[in-house]
Amino acid sequence: MKQATIATALSVAAVFAAVGGEQLMNLPPPPKGGRFTTPTDLVWPAKPGEADVCLWSGDRFAACSITIDDNCKPDHEWWLKLSEELGIKLTWFVITDHCVKKNNPGFNGTWADWQKLADAGHSIQSHTTNHKAKHGDVPMPSDEEVESMYRDSLKAINDNVTNNFACCIAYPRGEPHEAIAAKYAIACRGVYGVPSCANSINYLCTNKGAGGKGHVQMVAFGETQEDPKWIRGNKALKRGWNVVLYHFVHAGRTDADREKNAAGAEKEVRYIASLKDDRLWVCRFDDAAKYGQERDSATLTSALKGDKIEFTLTDRMKDDIFDYPLTVKVRLPDGWKSAKATQGGKSVPVRFVSHDGAPYALVEAVPDKGVVRVVSK
Ligand SMILES: [Zn+2]
Repeated sequence: MKQATIATALSVAAVFAAVGGEQLMNLPPPPKGGRFTTPTDLVWPAKPGEADVCLWSGDRFAACSITIDDNCKPDHEWWLKLSEELGIKLTWFVITDHCVKKNNPGFNGTWADWQKLADAGHSIQSHTTNHKAKHGDVPMPSDEEVESMYRDSLKAINDNVTNNFACCIAYPRGEPHEAIAAKYAIACRGVYGVPSCANSINYLCTNKGAGGKGHVQMVAFGETQEDPKWIRGNKALKRGWNVVLYHFVHAGRTDADREKNAAGAEKEVRYIASLKDDRLWVCRFDDAAKYGQERDSATLTSALKGDKIEFTLTDRMKDDIFDYPLTVKVRLPDGWKSAKATQGGKSVPVRFVSHDGAPYALVEAVPDKGVVRVVSK
């Protein structure tokens, strides 16, 4: 994310040079110290015409993605019902051979089950073909096998599930093969147990936080009352991305155990969802991975030109995959009471907000999709 700049004149040639430039599938790991300085609070550009890419979609303070591993067919209806009631979308990391073989479909699910989840707006991603990883006496699979585990699982999902694009992987047992994954995936989830700092997300092996209030409050408010002391002072996590992992929420030996475990998960998910309208962007893993990498590689140039504001937004990412709109906050001229915007001539969503008496527009714009013009309604 670059700081907003004011351009006095932006030539047409410069705009076209930026469009269709680099086409990265994923970003390399962050440099020590991060890719940028994370703003500790929401950013409000001061001068009319200035603009800034919001840290997270909708100018929310932090992000949280709820992910579910290992197919977990017995939980599908429970998750569908709860997520629909709360208005949130989930990300499922699926072991694809377990669907193809239809072994124990009541436990592993079938392609029809994943289609149903995709049609409800949830994201279907890969937990590899077979979940092989080194543990106990089981050796590490060869690089060739790992490559087919990653490549073939993504292909299987994309061949069998519509309304969905598989481009992310959760590493079995958190064992990363980043160089191989980088050929096929835009992002992968590891299992290191703490949220990711916004300015230093390792997209090819993200961290994994917890669903309890500790980690959620840490990213959303910068502090927590509930977690062990070690995390309480970790201000770097403020405004971060908390990727929560669940599997088998109904696990347990007895009915009472199963009910208790599901009730615990439900309480966490309800708390996360309670923050979704202002504090927390509760989003699919792939959407946060797109937003983050577009943001981290974005260049924004804006200028006030007479009675309108124009800006260009470019990034270094592959345009046919990285098409999630970034929220760009534009300082409007004093006295504006409303705003509308177009990108490449087509109208795009805008939200008008005021801060300390000054008018702002939150414009949803996709990098490399043309000049954005903001005018008063
Ligand atoms: Zn697993």
